[in-house]
Amino acid sequence: MLKEQEINLIELIDRFHDEDKCRRYLEGLRWPDGLTCPRCGSNKISRIKTRNQLDCHSCRYRYSVTAGTIFHDSHLPLWKWFVAVYLIVESKKGISGNQLKRSLGVTYKTAWYLAHRIRAALKEVDAQLLKGIVEVDETYVGGHMEGEGRGYKGNKTVVVGAFQRNGNICLQVVRGTDRETLHGFIRENVSGDTQAIYTDEWPAYRGIADEDTEHETVKHREKEWARDEVHTNSLENVWSLLKRSIIGSYHQVSAKHLDAYLDELEFRFNNRENPHMFRDAMCKLLVANNLPYAKLIAEA
Ligand SMILES: [Zn+2]
Repeated sequence: MLKEQEINLIELIDRFHDEDKCRRYLEGLRWPDGLTCPRCGSNKISRIKTRNQLDCHSCRYRYSVTAGTIFHDSHLPLWKWFVAVYLIVESKKGISGNQLKRSLGVTYKTAWYLAHRIRAALKEVDAQLLKGIVEVDETYVGGHMEGEGRGYKGNKTVVVGAFQRNGNICLQVVRGTDRETLHGFIRENVSGDTQAIYTDEWPAYRGIADEDTEHETVKHREKEWARDEVHTNSLENVWSLLKRSIIGSYHQVSAKHLDAYLDELEFRFNNRENPHMFRDAMCKLLVANNLPYAKLIAEA
């Protein structure tokens, strides 16, 4: 999974240490064919340097590259946003609020809120359905659970995942490991005519096959972890990455925020070979809706 790195941290700071350079970069992403008026579409635009604004000669609309974006209401300098996005997308296991706080020289609350806004922006909205050979598996995160059989949830949160061989993953917090929930997850995220679905022997997966989709299982209970091509090892690797991130970087993740961490992990995983991951993340931030702090801290 080696990828050519687009930019390293030193280059990032070198390129984006001042506000103006950050603005120029965002302008390039937002208007790749040259500055354009968002109101009338004209490209006769000049800069009002003292105000970080752009001025349309055709309709006299004055605007800034960050207007209407999540950067706009933020009191943070743009370079801190840039570094935060970089640290989040480029660190394999993610970055904790405390680490972000220290790296950016901001309060913990600011770092925490910033990271959540970035995660929300990275969330994949119209993800393509997975197809081909797809592994599906579930895992339990958080809480304590000892001496109980599978299916016992206790105070743990259930995460289900699907992984398209050589492709993307899709991860989601679900309410249980029952048939209705697991089948529902598969229907929503895996193409109906996918070639094959591989799971373990958990009975709730039964009946997922149809005329154009095979269902193969590995019998984990009988210590069978793989039968030729049939295994769910790719997802096992994702679960161990998820658990190491939670233990190593996030320490403790509430069930309420787990979905957001899954979105972040999904973005990193699905862009694992994308040399333009940072740029693509910035593009997503430019079009993202803001996530109000009050909504974030509201009770689930
Ligand atoms: Zn205009």
